[in-house]
Amino acid sequence: MHVDILSQLYERFVRRSALAGGLLAYVMFTWSLQQSGHLRATEDVYLQIVVIWLIGFFALAIIPRSRLGLDKKVTVLITTMWCNIGVVLMAVLVPDGVRIFMLVATLFGLMYASLYLDRGHVAVMGFLTYLFYALSSASLASYSVTDAQFELLLGLGYGFILAGGSILIFEAQVLRDGLRQRNEALRETMGRLQEMVLRDELTGVHNRRYILDVLRRQRSLADREQQGFTICYCDLDHFKQVNDQFGHVTGDKALRLFAQLAAGVIRNIDYVARFGGEEFVLVLVGADETASEHVANRLRVCTSELEIPGTSDGFVLTVSIGVTKARPGERVEDALARADRALYAAKIGGRNRVVVADA
Ligand code: GH3
Ligand code: MG
Ligand code: MG
Repeated sequence: MHVDILSQLYERFVRRSALAGGLLAYVMFTWSLQQSGHLRATEDVYLQIVVIWLIGFFALAIIPRSRLGLDKKVTVLITTMWCNIGVVLMAVLVPDGVRIFMLVATLFGLMYASLYLDRGHVAVMGFLTYLFYALSSASLASYSVTDAQFELLLGLGYGFILAGGSILIFEAQVLRDGLRQRNEALRETMGRLQEMVLRDELTGVHNRRYILDVLRRQRSLADREQQGFTICYCDLDHFKQVNDQFGHVTGDKALRLFAQLAAGVIRNIDYVARFGGEEFVLVLVGADETASEHVANRLRVCTSELEIPGTSDGFVLTVSIGVTKARPGERVEDALARADRALYAAKIGGRNRVVVADA
């Protein structure tokens, strides 16, 4: 958990540093162009543009989204668009031969945006970037700073680069979306498989593997938090005869009904599992022997009242239950063995009864 937060913070720090480094390099580059007299702007104008651009960028990056009332997509759209506007503005101020290299940086803005935005938004952003460039380029030509034919050709060239780059970005997005969908499907399947691995197919309650895991977890919890638990080991009486007399299908129905009954008798913090065959284990969290004996007896009485379709009138299903409280520091297997011994005593004592193991 802590490692997760740390690595997230580290990742964010690295990402922001890379972004800030890129911006700084870009500003240094244009600054040196300005200082060496290669920029179509005086130092004052240049500084005004850069300062406004940087303030806008950092404001968007630093002010929490919630305060601006914007969602993530809109923030990404505005931030990357703001970056692209700055890049285009600088690009029309640099020497004409360098301009196209500067303009390529707008593709980085589109690529970054494509990580968070859908295709429609990226297309709108590409279009707006190009529009802003076209307007800037047209104003250069209209003030006769550059030749109109040159501007037209460069505009076409930039259009090709932007369109080509956008197609590649779209393709990458299609691949990413496909991967995302497959990942989602995989996660769903994993969840279902996990559920299948931990549940008993016939009765729908948890299985032996799951309850053993629960017992081990409760064991360490009990040691740490002094919250004990009890085990109720249940075994349906003369179940072989049920099958012999009424058939396996009826036997299966009886198992399902008993499982439902047991699940209904416990609280939602407790556990029930089919331990195997006609044996079930209940784990009652934080309960003492007296309370557990009470629960076990309720289950026993309700079992004898179950109506099982397919059985004859007068048939009564009964259950014997061994109850024990786990002792501090004892192994799960030892507690289970003690519950099993109490269950055996219940069988010997005549079945249809609850026996609490000696402390
Ligand atoms: P006891 O009172 O001593 O427990 O007698 P019992 O007949 O219940 O005990 P035994 O262990 O001799 O028999 C258990 C029976 O449970 C045998 C088996 O056919 C039945 N059984 C186990 N699993 C299933 C199942 O999935 N479906 C059905 N229908 N019967 C099962
Ligand atoms: Mg048995
Ligand atoms: Mg039995």
